[in-house]
Amino acid sequence: MELTGGCLCRAVRYAISAPPIVTRACWCRVCQYIGAGSGTVNVCFPSAALTVQGELRDYPLIADSGNVMHRRFCPQCGTHLFSAAEARAHLIFVRAGTLDDPEVAQPAMTIWTSAAPSWASISAELPQVQRQPPPAA
Ligand SMILES: [Zn+2]
Ligand SMILES: [Zn+2]
Repeated sequence: MELTGGCLCRAVRYAISAPPIVTRACWCRVCQYIGAGSGTVNVCFPSAALTVQGELRDYPLIADSGNVMHRRFCPQCGTHLFSAAEARAHLIFVRAGTLDDPEVAQPAMTIWTSAAPSWASISAELPQVQRQPPPAA
């Protein structure tokens, strides 16, 4: 199987040759910046299955856990595409909105609900985790 996607201006395009491991909606404080007030939806894949064309910029940030997180985005249009933890570099989290077919992303849980504002729209049908869940794989 091959999934494809890219940024808004199409300067960055990617392909993924593996099925998703898990999809999560995240309301951590950092995702609220990236999501413009909402949380983000992130689809986890094995990093080895991802090929990228185009230039990405990397914004590294140390998480509360001490992990260095790399968030990569298109320098032209600013679309965030990927995040990865240095300690778990075999996994890549793809921002669901960048998939050519966002239907591929079926969130299995909502995480970091403790950081969400009171008005956040959070699915009652999905399991909720207040902070960071155990690693996906
Ligand atoms: Zn772009
Ligand atoms: Zn987050």
